[in-house]
Amino acid sequence: VPELAEVETLRGQLEEEILGEEVLGVSVFDSKLRGSEVLFRGRVCAVKRHGKALVLTLEGGDVVIRLGMSGRLKLGAPERPPRLTLRFPGGEIHLIDRRRLSSIGPLGGLPKGVDPLLGDPPLVWDSSRPVKALLMDQDFLLGVGNIYASEALFVAAVDPFVPASRLSPEERLRIFGAVREVLLEAISLRGTTISDWRDLYGRPGLYQERLRVYGKEGRPCPRCGSPIRRRVLSGRGTWFCPSCQVQ
Ligand SMILES: [Zn+2]
Repeated sequence: VPELAEVETLRGQLEEEILGEEVLGVSVFDSKLRGSEVLFRGRVCAVKRHGKALVLTLEGGDVVIRLGMSGRLKLGAPERPPRLTLRFPGGEIHLIDRRRLSSIGPLGGLPKGVDPLLGDPPLVWDSSRPVKALLMDQDFLLGVGNIYASEALFVAAVDPFVPASRLSPEERLRIFGAVREVLLEAISLRGTTISDWRDLYGRPGLYQERLRVYGKEGRPCPRCGSPIRRRVLSGRGTWFCPSCQVQ
C-alpha cells in the first residue's frame, strides 16, 4: 500500500518530470475511472501531496489521485496494461493498478490529520484506541499506514496496543519524532517494496531492507535479540518486540 513515503517519492519525481508541462491528452482504459479525463486540463502548476493522496494542480483545477492498495504511476512503457494514460510533450505517464482500487477526482473529501513531515504533533491524543490504530487514523495523522506505524512504535519503544490516552506527553513526542524519522529514512530510500510498489521510473524502493519489525515474526529484535511477535490489531498484522515495547 503506498503510504506517505511512497507517495512523497512519486510527488518529487513527478515534480521534476511534469511541472510546467501541458497535458496533451488522456486515455482511460478502466470503466471505474471513466469521466476523470475531463479533470486534466492545461499545464501542471504544482505537484502536491495530501497524506497518501497526490494532488496535481493544473490550470483547469486540482485533481486528486488516490493510489488505493496497489496503484502506481509509471513514466514511459508500462509493464502491464495501464488503467489510464496521460500524455505530456516529454512522454506518457501510466496509472498501473493490479487491484483496481485507485481513484481520481476533484479536490474534496480529504482527511484532516496532521502531516507528520510538515505539521506539529497533534495536541489531543485522547483516545481509548490502541496507539497504533490512532497513528493510522488519517484524521489524526496523514499518510501513516501499517508499515510505518509498526516501525515508528518500535523506534519509540512503545507498545502498539497501549490506549493512546495513557501515553505521557514525553511518549507522545517520542512517537511523533519516530514517525518523522522513519518516514524521512524511507523517503531517502524511495519507500518500501513488499509487493506492488515501484517509483515513477519502475524501480522498487529499498526500505524493506531496513525494516526492523514489520513482517519479522520470530526474527531477533535488532535492539535486544528477543524474537519479534505478531498479533492482529483491527484486522491488521502488528509486529513488535515483546521486551523493548511492553511497558
Ligand atoms: Zn527488543
